Amino acid sequence: MSLTLHGIGVSRGIAIGKVHIVKHEPVEISEYCLPKQHLDEEILRFEKAHNLAREQLQEIQERLPKESTVDIAGFIDAHLLMLDDSLLSKIPRDLIYKHQCNAEWALQMQCESIVERFEKIDDPYFKARQDDVKQVVTRIQRILRGYPDPSFDLAVTDLAQSIVLADDLSPADTILMRHHGILAFATEYGGTTSHTAILARSLGIPAIVGLHRASPYIQPDELIIVDGTRGVILAEPDECNLHYYKIRQYNDKCSRAALNKIKKSPTITRDGIPITLDINIEFPEDMVAVQRVGGEGIGLYRTEFLFMNRVAPPNEEEHFEAYRKVIQALKGHTVTIRTVDLGSDKQVTDSRYHDGVATNPALGLRAVRLCLKDHKLFKPQLRAILRASAIGKVRMMIPMVCDLQEITQIKHMIQEMRTELRHKSLEFDPAMPIGIMVEVPAMAICIDFLMPEIDFLSIGTNDLIQYTLAIDRNDEAVSYLYNPLHPAVLRLIKMSIDGANKAGKPISMCGEMASDSRYIRLLLGLGLRSFSVNPESYLEIKKIIINSNLRGLTHIANQILQTASQDNINSLLDTINVRIDI
Ligand code: PEP
Ligand code: MG
Repeated sequence: MSLTLHGIGVSRGIAIGKVHIVKHEPVEISEYCLPKQHLDEEILRFEKAHNLAREQLQEIQERLPKESTVDIAGFIDAHLLMLDDSLLSKIPRDLIYKHQCNAEWALQMQCESIVERFEKIDDPYFKARQDDVKQVVTRIQRILRGYPDPSFDLAVTDLAQSIVLADDLSPADTILMRHHGILAFATEYGGTTSHTAILARSLGIPAIVGLHRASPYIQPDELIIVDGTRGVILAEPDECNLHYYKIRQYNDKCSRAALNKIKKSPTITRDGIPITLDINIEFPEDMVAVQRVGGEGIGLYRTEFLFMNRVAPPNEEEHFEAYRKVIQALKGHTVTIRTVDLGSDKQVTDSRYHDGVATNPALGLRAVRLCLKDHKLFKPQLRAILRASAIGKVRMMIPMVCDLQEITQIKHMIQEMRTELRHKSLEFDPAMPIGIMVEVPAMAICIDFLMPEIDFLSIGTNDLIQYTLAIDRNDEAVSYLYNPLHPAVLRLIKMSIDGANKAGKPISMCGEMASDSRYIRLLLGLGLRSFSVNPESYLEIKKIIINSNLRGLTHIANQILQTASQDNINSLLDTINVRIDI
């Protein structure tokens, strides 16, 4: 009999395939006292695990795609060096003899002693090394305990045509998976606008989050169906279910093919108003998807993925190279490069950019705050963006600004960078537009103060909703409150649009609300004329725009703005979406 499991569908589509289970459960390490005559045997066990750890790392390295912009290879190199250092190859052996203890415990003692030494040094480089040591030690301990290693698993297993079912997947894990050609993924944790969900949409594969302890019900290699549209998993599907979902899969394929017909049409409404429709990307490799759907400009290039799965942050040349690839593929259209938005759920694998565990990471040292604190991290990116502005149309966008002072500080830094570049005779565009994301409600409320300071705005609804309604966007327990139609959210959006229009400066929306077909007509009615969406939604959104008549939308959009009850808002939204005369 088929078993149905429910979660939150975060990326549409149907996938039918075999399951690959990924678990990040921690390894529990206890101390055992060993009789003297067993110590040689224990040393042998340690050496075997140590060798296996090396083989795993070498295998990951061999299998990494050569064309990746992410420097995972450097990360693995550093782990290999550390593994072979006497600190982790010889001293644990000595400790086994000295304390007559098991190998896991000897490693644990040695790890704590190394970390303690690094902790005393107040240098971000050594802080980063602490995490590397912990990761290498955990790798050997997992082998000793017989636990599979999730990162090894994701990097080396042939996941083509499989469905990944995980307790959780970090954005860094999804980078490892993206080259594998997986069919879909499902996780037990995570919210609709978590970055892992956003990545699934940009890859165009079905995904479900918030499944709550689904893995005990599903066996590795079992055939399942993932319905990303409805947020449902079907385990052990019978013939009838399989037939039904195969038909739905076929219908989806046909509707996508039909959308291809509007690929070359201009994005103009029925009453002749041109609308800007840009695309959000995460990697230069995403330009393939942009071209596939006939996209032009990039309204949001998220750069934090350049920083993940590696030891040191990217240098100026690595940044520049990534931007150059995108600019070259754009053939004269504009790219909006967002400065790095690390922190909160977009963590790198070490403590380079966070001191200990923040109580509220989403409210902590994230995005522009981190950049203004850590110039070593930020300046190479700033210089690279400025240099990139000499080879194409580039706009620079700053995330999570909450105070005008932050803009002043950034502009000051840019001024310094320009002087440096001039001294080095390196070219840049002195008129490169500098804009911010409206993600913190304070910026929408103070829009009149903000406008003279910047060249353009983009509304980041993923965070704007999180911060307006005080709900963690990654926490499935409160995802029922995550509501783009909340009157407070709509009012902040309207205030931003009106403020930008009044100042005569461009405003767009790059949050996921802009990629959701249900909200496009409402946003057009609120006065929005520029959208940046994920590649998979691009043609569907374009179709809605070219079938809309702006004249009829404003009235209903204003009615929605004046409505308190959610039921009434929903029925007005239905009206705005189904009427064919507007
Ligand atoms: C947003 O917050 O809407 C946004 C586009 O940024 P991110 O999802 O990367 O935080
Ligand atoms: Mg954001």
